[in-house]
Amino acid sequence: MKAIVIGAGVVGVTTAYYLRAAGVDVTVLDRLEAPADETSFGNAGQVSPGYAAPWAAPGIPWKAMKWLLSEHAPLRIRPDGTFFQLAWMARMVANCTEAAYARNKSRMVPLAEYSRDCLRDLRKDLNLHYEERSLGTLQIFRNDKQLAAGRRDSGLLDQMNVANQVLDQDGLLQAEPALKAVAHKLTGALLLPNDETGDCKLFTERLAAICVEMGVHFRFGVTVQSLVAEGKRISAVELDSGETLNADSVVLAAGCASRALALPLGLDLPVYPVKGYSITVPLTNPEGAPRSTVLDETYKIALTRFDNRLRVGGMAEVAGFDKRIDPVRIDTLNMVTNDLFPHAGDLSKASKWTGLRPMTPDGTPIVGSTPYDNLFTNTGHGTLGWTMSCGSARVIADTVLGRRPEIDARELSMARYAKGNARIHEGSKTSGQIKWAD
Ligand SMILES: Cc1cc2nc3c(=O)[nH]c(=O)nc-3n(C[C@H](O)[C@H](O)[C@H](O)COP(=O)(O)OP(=O)(O)OC[C@H]3O[C@@H](n4cnc5c(N)ncnc54)[C@H](O)[C@@H]3O)c2cc1C
Repeated sequence: MKAIVIGAGVVGVTTAYYLRAAGVDVTVLDRLEAPADETSFGNAGQVSPGYAAPWAAPGIPWKAMKWLLSEHAPLRIRPDGTFFQLAWMARMVANCTEAAYARNKSRMVPLAEYSRDCLRDLRKDLNLHYEERSLGTLQIFRNDKQLAAGRRDSGLLDQMNVANQVLDQDGLLQAEPALKAVAHKLTGALLLPNDETGDCKLFTERLAAICVEMGVHFRFGVTVQSLVAEGKRISAVELDSGETLNADSVVLAAGCASRALALPLGLDLPVYPVKGYSITVPLTNPEGAPRSTVLDETYKIALTRFDNRLRVGGMAEVAGFDKRIDPVRIDTLNMVTNDLFPHAGDLSKASKWTGLRPMTPDGTPIVGSTPYDNLFTNTGHGTLGWTMSCGSARVIADTVLGRRPEIDARELSMARYAKGNARIHEGSKTSGQIKWAD
């Protein structure tokens, strides 16, 4: 079997690995020059099934309105001039009910847990290293209200069998001794001991190198222009150079670009680019840095320890495909770093980065088959693309091969957005004829 994977981010590369491991002849196409050079490049470095929850949660619309007025707010919204942005936000708000939150979380947690286990296997089987650590995530609270919410989250995590522990001040200092100097600002923490950390770019690059040794063919610097459909099949992948490629199966793993590639086929993937920022700070005093990830609940910013660097990432801007770096957002990242770990690194030498999260309104990625027999999607991983990458890739490899995935993946495909099942109109020959049945 021949497969084309579109996109060499962490999702595309893990997909290529599992397909190749199952004996498929795989070609990966990417418009950039190296693996993980887009959103997978500078993320916050968390593999965090413990935080596998949708951003659309009860109370968020109200909080969002308050955030819009605050200088260091985690969220910003700027009209991008499209109807899609408005429709996407409306769908996100509709997902902020208790029932939708619980349903979406119950789709995300099993996938994320499975994914972390797949990642552990990969590490063992392939001797893969990427400045990884297995020391958990520590979500820190600056007031009693946050601590009470942390206790409620802990109850929910218990129900889903996700290991967690609510910590008082002493407990949090044991977990992260470098917070000692600022302990008076903190009321407690929630520890997720089974979360992991590492550099996603390194992970993807090194896995891609292993894929090459296994026989995966990577073509960088090639842009997919369109997917050509004939009836219920994708008959060709067209590059902007005019070249056309064929394969038995095509996996769309193009991150934020997935929607534009699928739309001409009549497939409406609700994947919106939600911008985030990170800085990477060289450590000058490793003792003053966290051992693992510290997640500051107030600013929704994660600070993750790599070997000799600190990655600080967060924020959400709903503002279209705009990758300009706003210095005010960098100021917020600097401020939080200085506030919690004032002597850890040299902020003047920090590198700055911004990336667009491929985000669905329900927080769950779109992993599975499509109304086209040989087209599959592995996209829409939003805030947790690395966390969910290995599990999603295994699910999609199994789906492409017609095998039953090891976890229940029935609600991960795009069919969940349709009232009934998707079908192709009788007699359709080319693109644009896919309709959702009611
Ligand atoms: C600030 C920030 C912090 C984050 N922190 C975390 C975290 O701690 N943990 C976590 O799990 N996740 C985190 N994420 C999310 C995570 O980084 C993403 O979900 C993940 O990187 C998405 O991977 P991807 O492979 O789908 O997309 P990408 O990495 O964007 O890859 C898509 C690839 O497709 C290629 N492509 C697109 N269109 C075409 C085309 N037409 N032709 C050819 N190639 C094409 C692109 O060049 C790109 O290389 C964070 C994101 C941000 C922005």
